[in-house]
Amino acid sequence: MLLFQPPQATQPPYHSVYFRPRFPKPPPCSVALNPPTTTGAGTNLTNIQLIKSLCKQGNLKQALHVLDQESNPTQQAYELLILSCAHQSCLSDALRVHRHILDNGFDQDPFLATKLIGMYSELGYVDYARKVFDGTRKRTIYVWNALFRALSLAGQGEEVLDLYRKMNKIGVQSDRFTYTYVLKACVASECTGNHLKKGKEIHAHITRRGYNSHVYIMTTLVDMYARFGCVDYASSVFNEMPVKNVVSWSAMIACYAKNGKPFEALEIFHEMMKETQDSSPNSITMVSVLQACAAISALEQGKLIHGYLLRRRLHSIMPVMSALVTMYARCGKLELGQRVFDQMVNRDVVSWNSLISSYGVHGYGRKAIQIFEEMIANGCSPSPVTFVSVLGACSHEGLVEEGKKLFDSMWREHRIRPQVEHYACMVDLLGRADRLDEAAKMVEDMRIEPGPKVWGALLGSCRIHCNVELAERASRRLFELEPRNAGNYVLLTDIYAEAQMWDEVKRVKKLLESRGLQKLPGRSWIEVRRRMYSFVSEDEFNPHIEQIHALLVRLAEEMKEKGYVPQTKGVLYELETEEKERIVLGHSEKIAVGFGLINTAKGEPIRITKNLRLCEDCHLFTKFISKFMDKEILVRDVNRFHSFKNGVCSCGDYW
Ligand code: ZN
Ligand code: ZN
Repeated sequence: MLLFQPPQATQPPYHSVYFRPRFPKPPPCSVALNPPTTTGAGTNLTNIQLIKSLCKQGNLKQALHVLDQESNPTQQAYELLILSCAHQSCLSDALRVHRHILDNGFDQDPFLATKLIGMYSELGYVDYARKVFDGTRKRTIYVWNALFRALSLAGQGEEVLDLYRKMNKIGVQSDRFTYTYVLKACVASECTGNHLKKGKEIHAHITRRGYNSHVYIMTTLVDMYARFGCVDYASSVFNEMPVKNVVSWSAMIACYAKNGKPFEALEIFHEMMKETQDSSPNSITMVSVLQACAAISALEQGKLIHGYLLRRRLHSIMPVMSALVTMYARCGKLELGQRVFDQMVNRDVVSWNSLISSYGVHGYGRKAIQIFEEMIANGCSPSPVTFVSVLGACSHEGLVEEGKKLFDSMWREHRIRPQVEHYACMVDLLGRADRLDEAAKMVEDMRIEPGPKVWGALLGSCRIHCNVELAERASRRLFELEPRNAGNYVLLTDIYAEAQMWDEVKRVKKLLESRGLQKLPGRSWIEVRRRMYSFVSEDEFNPHIEQIHALLVRLAEEMKEKGYVPQTKGVLYELETEEKERIVLGHSEKIAVGFGLINTAKGEPIRITKNLRLCEDCHLFTKFISKFMDKEILVRDVNRFHSFKNGVCSCGDYW
């Protein structure tokens, strides 16, 4: 039997939705059977043709009446009715058709089984789809694939992988669709190491079965490795592909953009433009490319891409426009981002979120709240991401009360349950504003597991206010939850160093080394005349370094006379003051500033992006430079924008 064994009268119904008595004998059909056709005078429609035409018209109820009159229903008629039920999202009709199929001897028809599985999946009843599968004995690969698809869509990746294993065991051969579904299943649930292992196994099966040149499967593989952050695997699959289409190129670009490799993303985009004649980039490609530009503040590149979008008429597509808003804002051109937003004909929640977070990253919390209110007034419902953006914006401007109000409104007014990300924003907001006790209390009272994001926000706040005790508590949890995140160890050593607790600094450093982890090196980027230059801290190999260093040393000496006092508390070594000053002067951001001073014209601002939070000394140094050299300097660190002008920073020293 397929799905619902008709329950015996004495047994409870299999499912309350379906029970034979609930479907009384249908009333007589109001449509005359075999009525004259409207198209050909004098010819009669058969019942099957009538069902077909009624389904086409969307008149499912009438089609079902006709079905009840038909003594010899065909597979084709059932297929049409199943598609209609799925299309019209009507479960009771779907169950009625299903019942008919069982009653008329089609219960082991594998073709109809795949259709029924697809129908229940579409209707959102994946359990029913599973029952159809369980009841089918002649299972073709299509039946398996139909269930894999249904389970994948329902996010039941684990189940797909389990079934795939069983299928292999009984010797059913996979086809190309099977592989794409099971690969997608590997990332459908949480991306754990175990799922990655499964993914690699499937990759081996694909190779063994000779599907290595299949563009769709290989692209799905690239996607899968990208989701696990295995950039090297993704690129090796990509490089081995004999044929690539726009989807494959886009997958690889997105892989780089989403895994913190914006330079590589742009590089491969340029390669794509050179190599592909007939498959030009689509809107998905362009969103990734704009994200890459935004990540490194490549304004000139971004502008070129904007021009390209206009020429290709891709500029009216909403996700592209939203990415454009973010790109301009992240490159320091908030006003251009606002202009793009104003020009949008239609706006969705993603566009509003882009604008809100743009104002947030520039430190305009109040403006972000205003846009949030405008969004609601325009009838656009906020998403969970909206609240991450607006709460983050509050945090950058220290708007504690406003943030609390918004957080409270999440469930009360918008029926959005606060998730870990939102708690992390609140902890950050309270922590930055030096309300660490309140932040710690919030973590304690959370109804969901705080997770690394929340503890990380707490530890970050402890770093700003040098609270050793709370930092130790937060890091203990973080070392358990994320033993391989070097950033947490570094934050704790920073706090110990600032408190001059050198033994503790050594202990944590040892722990870091014993786990084979390395501190993420400080890196800064600067765009000069459409080229990106990247510097690491204490860069020795850069060809420009000697000239830059000489300039920085001279400027530091001259500025000391004007009151600049190097801030060396963050240096993680017990050293002489002079040596500490030498170390902070070698920070990547200062090297980028030096390079910018040498290579930009008078009046032209310097734009820098930094991969970590700006340190106290770099912040102070840049403030002095901006006045001393009469130069506007924009720095985006991992948290927000700093616009240095005439000796002050737009962040008001709150970052
Ligand atoms: Zn620094
Ligand atoms: Zn600042």
